[in-house]
Amino acid sequence: MIILKSATEVARFVMEKHKNGAVIGLVPTMGALHQGHISLLEKSKQLSSITVSSIFVNPTQFNNASDFEKYPITIEKDIDMLEAAGCDMLFLPSVIEMYPYGTAKLPNYNLGFLETVLEGKFRPGHFQGVCQVVDRLLNIIQPDLLFLGQKDYQQCMVIGKMKELVKINTQIIICPTLREPNGLAMSSRNLRLTSDEKKKASKIYETLCFIKKEIKPGYLQDLKERARQYLTEEGFEVDYIEIANSTTLESQESWDGKMQLVVLAAAFINEVRLIDNITLQH
Ligand code: AMP
Repeated sequence: MIILKSATEVARFVMEKHKNGAVIGLVPTMGALHQGHISLLEKSKQLSSITVSSIFVNPTQFNNASDFEKYPITIEKDIDMLEAAGCDMLFLPSVIEMYPYGTAKLPNYNLGFLETVLEGKFRPGHFQGVCQVVDRLLNIIQPDLLFLGQKDYQQCMVIGKMKELVKINTQIIICPTLREPNGLAMSSRNLRLTSDEKKKASKIYETLCFIKKEIKPGYLQDLKERARQYLTEEGFEVDYIEIANSTTLESQESWDGKMQLVVLAAAFINEVRLIDNITLQH
């Protein structure tokens, strides 16, 4: 695996590969890699001829300074994992390399409604940061395919919208959420949990599954309230637990039994904020 730190070198590398007809797949990450990231890489290996991954803990997407400072960094292990998974090139930029003109005047993206709900509402500015970093990565790498995890459901939608706004041709491939045996969605932030907290954290997925099992056509308020109350009683600080239209993310007060839905949750265990979601296919 080639490791490059300069945007110019990366652009040269991919241009050369493109000239030879390669299909370039990109798996962007913030490091502290786990099997969920590797599953994206494996998908890219299936669909692309050259797989590029990036590791960059993007400061502009953290709305909370302590979350940024405490974000886990395991770079040596990450490199070993990427190499073992057959990654062709790792882009490992510095902040200056990513944002040579600083972070104060980066573009603003008109994300509309998407930015006003759920993660957008609870993490102001977060999705602007996500768009800034992904836009820059797409510009440097010009991938044919971009692999994203359903774990970050709203982020997939936001990046889809950003792609329309900046008119980039890259195709987005959304990959399923990988989970621990107890159902907990794999996440870099899980490294900040004790083993007891990890056990407890699986109750988020349990609650999403409870909603999936109990949901019936009609009003949904009571079901949402029971789910929130359960997590709160178990000691979580719940930001939201929401049932939404899976294509628009609009919150649903009631259900006609037909609309495709997604159930999304965000909750803190002590200082660590976790998110998860499942789609309901009916
Ligand atoms: P992150 O490093 O957390 O920014 O994630 C990088 C990419 O990996 C994003 O597209 C995430 O949605 C995806 N990802 C994170 N966790 C998982 C998981 N448990 N299963 C599948 N993909 C994941």
